[in-house]
Amino acid sequence: MESRDVVIIGSGYGGTIPATRLAQAGMQVTVLERGPRFDTRDFVQSDRIRDLDRVLDIVLTSENVAFRTGKLVGGASINMDGAHFRMPQKSFLVRDRNGRPYWPAGFSRAMLDPYYARAEQMLRVRQLAWTEISRGGGMFAKMLAAAGASCERSRLNYTDCLHCGFCTQGCIYEKKISLLLSYIPVAEAAGAEFRPGCDVQTIEPMGTGYRVRYVLNGTAQEIFGQRVVVGAGGIHTPALLKRSTSLLTGLSPQVGENFNSNGEHPFVGILPPEFDDLSRYACFKGMENAGLMSFHWYDSDGITMHPGAGLEPSVLVSSLAAANHPVLPQRAWGMEYKRFAESVYPHRIIAFSVLGLADGHRAVTLQPSGKVDLVNRDRTAFDSYLDRVDRVLAQVSSTTGVTLLPVVPRKQAGTTSSHLLSACRMAETIDQGVVNPDGEVFGHPNLWICDASTVPYALAVNPAITISAIAERTSEKIVARG
Ligand SMILES: Cc1cc2nc3c(=O)[nH]c(=O)nc-3n(C[C@H](O)[C@H](O)[C@H](O)COP(=O)(O)OP(=O)(O)OC[C@H]3O[C@@H](n4cnc5c(N)ncnc54)[C@H](O)[C@@H]3O)c2cc1C
Ligand code: SF4
Repeated sequence: MESRDVVIIGSGYGGTIPATRLAQAGMQVTVLERGPRFDTRDFVQSDRIRDLDRVLDIVLTSENVAFRTGKLVGGASINMDGAHFRMPQKSFLVRDRNGRPYWPAGFSRAMLDPYYARAEQMLRVRQLAWTEISRGGGMFAKMLAAAGASCERSRLNYTDCLHCGFCTQGCIYEKKISLLLSYIPVAEAAGAEFRPGCDVQTIEPMGTGYRVRYVLNGTAQEIFGQRVVVGAGGIHTPALLKRSTSLLTGLSPQVGENFNSNGEHPFVGILPPEFDDLSRYACFKGMENAGLMSFHWYDSDGITMHPGAGLEPSVLVSSLAAANHPVLPQRAWGMEYKRFAESVYPHRIIAFSVLGLADGHRAVTLQPSGKVDLVNRDRTAFDSYLDRVDRVLAQVSSTTGVTLLPVVPRKQAGTTSSHLLSACRMAETIDQGVVNPDGEVFGHPNLWICDASTVPYALAVNPAITISAIAERTSEKIVARG
């Protein structure tokens, strides 16, 4: 059997960052990635389902709720919208209903700051200038100003963005600094091997390391890792551990539990005709994150808001169906709907997403067929978060005259989320979490998890840079262990 100092599973932030740092420390590293390796020339600017399906993994649950994650070498760094905010200190302080802090002792903004800085430098994150904000961002800022609220320019890993609006499909202009353009070349220069097309099935203890079984081109393969780092992402990492439960005995009962979508809840706004000179604004233009962030309600309600762009007409259909609003057409079809859509699209539509300090309310499970599912758990705390969001948005709507509609019905809040946190969360004890504060799986030395699944709770800001900072820190711990 092949043998390596380190076998890494998945090549998003949680896989590629340790691959880079461990290879730089002189270890022999192989990264197993289930998806193909594309380069910039392979990306296409198309919204056809089959083109999206080449680059984006949509996990559809048994209740038809969809979550989005990565499926190529580089993980979801290829698809993401570029927003990189360090987590505010208050997000580290949240406690559960028993008064227990979600974050292990010692974690704070100050503790993670040096790791944030390291990752930001690699990913070339910077605050946008006002001249780089799209008109969609400007419209969002005007709406907030009318509501007496503020917003600020976002921190993105985009340089000289052309505002074409196809960020999810992979940037054909190399304006977004994905892992393919940052960490991966550094990892490879240090000797790390990225092996695409390798779908990992199970992990099994073997001596002082682990046997990793995977399928490549339909053929079963195995490789031994003295150390194994799992970076398969917020849904597929807990699924992999669940598939390996009979082999990795004594795993925490928290594997798959506490799944948290970061309070992500998208909205569409219909601007009143007199709101502004709307003729020069078109909602289908601009980069997918319109480049602003509002922390106005963060201290009071634990929520942030950021605008989107690149809106398809179909967003109206799902919003109308979800909202069931008295002044809007009751059906998203027919003549009444057509006339309505003509009157508002594309100049009177804006979109934005709310993120927030929301509890988890789902668990990652496996169906009898082996297919991954995300099933409902207690929603009480999550529902009270949605009440807070509704209250804030009702206030925005009443002060601005903008009609605000959720993109999905309340019971499906979080659907289309790409913030897939906490289903293998870090904690101080095995009864509370799956990995210890250094990222090592409880009861399984030399088995580490480094991806979104270890983040213990919602952040209320976009997660990639926090996942990256934690991955930098975990890599340091693995190197220190030797
Ligand atoms: C469309 C979109 C927009 C986003 N926008 C933003 C944003 O603006 N800001 C932000 O902070 N975050 C954003 N995110 C979220 C962010 O990209 C994720 O939080 C982040 O990529 C998670 O990193 P990860 O390493 O945990 O997982 P991923 O990046 O998803 O990487 C996991 C990798 O593991 C591979 N894998 C899975 N299972 C296996 C297996 N069994 N065997 C081998 N390989 C496997 C996958 O193919 C994938 O490549 C966005 C995500 C999406 C999808
Ligand atoms: S909007 Fe900017 S970052 Fe996104 S795909 Fe177009 S050029 Fe690239």
